Amino acid sequence: MALTGIQIFKLTPKKNCKECGSPTCMAFAMKVAQGAVGIDKCPYMSEDAIAQLSEASAPPMKTIEIGKKPFADNKNDTDASFKLGGETVLFRHEKTFVNKTRYASTVSTAMDAAKVDQILTDMAKIDYERIGDRMYVEFIAVDHTDGASADAYAELAKKAAAANRALILNVKDEAAAAAALEAVKDTKPVLNGADASNYEAMNKLATGADVVLGVTGSNVDEIYDTIAAIEKLGNKKLIVDLGSVSVKDAFANAVLLRRACLDKNPDRTAGYPTIANVAKLAPGDAHMQTALATLFTMKYGSIVIVEEMTYAQALPLYGLRQNLFTDPQKAPRIEPGIYPINGAEENSICLTTVDFALTYFLVSGELERSGVPCNLLISDAGGLSVLTSWAAGKFSAGSIAKYIQEFDIENKIKNRTLVLPGKVAVLKGDLEAKLPDWNIVVGPTEAVQLVKFLKDMQAN
Ligand code: SF4
Repeated sequence: MALTGIQIFKLTPKKNCKECGSPTCMAFAMKVAQGAVGIDKCPYMSEDAIAQLSEASAPPMKTIEIGKKPFADNKNDTDASFKLGGETVLFRHEKTFVNKTRYASTVSTAMDAAKVDQILTDMAKIDYERIGDRMYVEFIAVDHTDGASADAYAELAKKAAAANRALILNVKDEAAAAAALEAVKDTKPVLNGADASNYEAMNKLATGADVVLGVTGSNVDEIYDTIAAIEKLGNKKLIVDLGSVSVKDAFANAVLLRRACLDKNPDRTAGYPTIANVAKLAPGDAHMQTALATLFTMKYGSIVIVEEMTYAQALPLYGLRQNLFTDPQKAPRIEPGIYPINGAEENSICLTTVDFALTYFLVSGELERSGVPCNLLISDAGGLSVLTSWAAGKFSAGSIAKYIQEFDIENKIKNRTLVLPGKVAVLKGDLEAKLPDWNIVVGPTEAVQLVKFLKDMQAN
């Protein structure tokens, strides 16, 4: 059971030195109890206290890292690996989800080389940016099918590794697992193949290669017991394969395990990230796989494996994921500044809008589409939309004029035309009074009208 703030306080050095960033040891203890800071922030904890506290204060759900550079080339994946798990709430609105679901396409020893090449080539085509996040297929599941030789499986794993994605080795055959690990262990794949019948051998292979071990079973009790047995062997680098008995069972396993580990009295043996292999739950049915991928993105798949990720599947899935895994307590915003578009320079016209990320990406997309060089000026509007920030007084003639002064716009840009969003046309008069050297132009009310608006402006 988690320790209370008072219990943690009793173990602190009671120096009140503030080096941990808290004003007192008591304040620090309260934050540790809430999970807001780690005990490592205090440099004076005794080894005995650390030993007592680390297990009790650790989040109930473990964070597992998979893969290594160059796979994590997403600017939001600043670490060398993909972090999975580490969730603290059952529902996003309670706080926030932490480590987003990742997606995988599948290659298999049952496929011929042309099919494998086609899947890897098609997968690479899904690569686009949405509101600052790179959307692409981060994982490749490499399936070993009955009868395939160890060498053939190792070759397939090597081919998949060359696609620069993290790997999930779906294999129960010990010899094939050993051969594939030998071939690609430097990429830090998941060895996904332990169950009640083979966990000792698989655990030996996984720990020998220092990779994460995937554990499954025919029901949640068997999964739980196998995890407990592997933990007794000293391995806690695990991920749970939710199984492919049926959709109902896989979904129940996901929910039961997540509830158990985030209960008031957390069961840490249930606290591992999960793999939902929807390719196995609905083989050959891309539409059903998309529906199931949606389900397991919401509850509670850390990696969702489909047969072949297509653009049509990716668009709704990645959009859903982005909605779920953004912090509802923080408005998605971009940094205030000057954003030159279409090769704009100091003589190009200026447009202004707010720092709400959705507004920025909509507007900048339309500006790019127009082909007209222009400077988009983004001021600090509290991460709110145009009308909301205007109503809140955060996007006003005063705030725009202040921003132009603070960012030294008049020395950086010679052009003196500034286009206002049409929804705040009411600011024109005030802004002309505050910026007398500027030609203030009221733009369209909707971003989609910007292309015609700019082209007309350019023609005149
Ligand atoms: Fe107390 Fe340690 Fe924080 Fe100092 S650094 S105030 S000793 S908890």
